[in-house]
Amino acid sequence: MFRAKTALLITACVTAIAVTVLAVWGVADLKQASAAPLIVIDPGHGGTDGGVTGAETKVKEAEINLEISLLLEEELTRRGFNTVKTRSSSGTAAIVAGEKQQDMERRKEIILSANPSLVVSIHCNKFPSSSRRGAQVFFNPLSESGQALAKRLQDSLNILNLVEVGRGYTALSGDYYILNCSPYPSAIVECGFLSNAEDERLLLSQDYRTKLVNAVADGIQRFLFTDSSR
Ligand SMILES: [Zn+2]
Repeated sequence: MFRAKTALLITACVTAIAVTVLAVWGVADLKQASAAPLIVIDPGHGGTDGGVTGAETKVKEAEINLEISLLLEEELTRRGFNTVKTRSSSGTAAIVAGEKQQDMERRKEIILSANPSLVVSIHCNKFPSSSRRGAQVFFNPLSESGQALAKRLQDSLNILNLVEVGRGYTALSGDYYILNCSPYPSAIVECGFLSNAEDERLLLSQDYRTKLVNAVADGIQRFLFTDSSR
C-alpha cells in the first residue's frame, strides 16, 4: 500500500515536472517568435571618404556620422532592440581610395544578411546657402514602407527642428543607393547642415546628439509599434 502510494506520488511528480518543462519550452518558443526587432544603422561615408566638412571647424561628416550612430546603437540597445552597423570604425573597415562602389556593395551585403526590420542611414547635410538648417529625412518614393518610416522619423525630428530652427520639414524622396539596395524599410537621416555654423555647433554638442538619437529612436518605435499598417 505504502509502495503503491509512493509510486503514485512519483508518477504525479514526474507528470508535474514534464508539464512544467513543456510550459517553459512554450514560453521560450513564444519569446523566440517575438524576438526584438533588428535595426541596421548605416554611418554614412568613412575611410578616405570624409563626406562634407564643417563650415567653421572643418570637422568631417564621416566622424560625426559614426559618433551619432554609436550613440543611436546604445539608445536602441537600451530600449531592447538588436542592432547591426555597416561600419564600426573611421578607418580601415570602411573606404579606401577609389573603392566607393565596393564599399556601398559591402553595406548592401551586411543589410541583406542581417534581414532587419528597417535600415537607418546617418548623414550630415550641406547646402549652397549657409542659412539652411535642421534635420531632414529622405526615402525611396517606390517604397511605401520606407516612406512611412521616413514620415515617422521626420515628425519626431521636427520637435527638435521647431526648437532649434523654428520650423519643421516634410520628409523628401531621393534616389540614393542605400535606400534602393534592399527590400527593407529604409530612410536617410540628414542630422543637420554642416554648411551652417549654428547646426555645426549643435552636431558637435553631446547634448544635441543625445536629443537627436532619442528623436530617431522614438520615430523607429512609432513606425514599428504604432503604425496601423504594420
Ligand atoms: Zn553624407
